[in-house]
Amino acid sequence: MKKELRIQYDYFTNIVELEEENQYLIAKAREVAKKAYAPYSKFYVGASLVLENGEVILGSNQENIAFPSGLCAERVALFYAGSNYPNLAISKLVVVANGDLIAKEAVLSPCGSCRQVLLESQNRQEKMFPIYLVGQDDSVHIFSSIYDLMPMAFGK
Ligand SMILES: [Zn+2]
Repeated sequence: MKKELRIQYDYFTNIVELEEENQYLIAKAREVAKKAYAPYSKFYVGASLVLENGEVILGSNQENIAFPSGLCAERVALFYAGSNYPNLAISKLVVVANGDLIAKEAVLSPCGSCRQVLLESQNRQEKMFPIYLVGQDDSVHIFSSIYDLMPMAFGK
């Protein structure tokens, strides 16, 4: 017997189709991506994390010559939020990326470690939150929660 896993997500060809608030969050993520420390990958990632009180936490990737010591933009933002606002739920995550590692029309997708941390964050607050992935070509892929990016997850 074969079983099938399917996901559905919202897709917009351009950020201008989004509400103003989301365009603002993408602009903030792109701004902070420029502050990434990425001398090795030359891949600049920015994350805007919105908390339930409206506060926006920004993160960019921080690399290290000892590669595992660096950290992705998503986890920089998630851990900052967890450290400083442990009792506030996350209501949205926006991720943007710039670099030659991926084609302009491709969308950046969080790495496995970030997905695991996103899952834990969501489980911890017992409330799903959407994840916006923005391509270099301004396309937007919106997943309603980490469950869609991590089916059959450990710890679900
Ligand atoms: Zn990651």
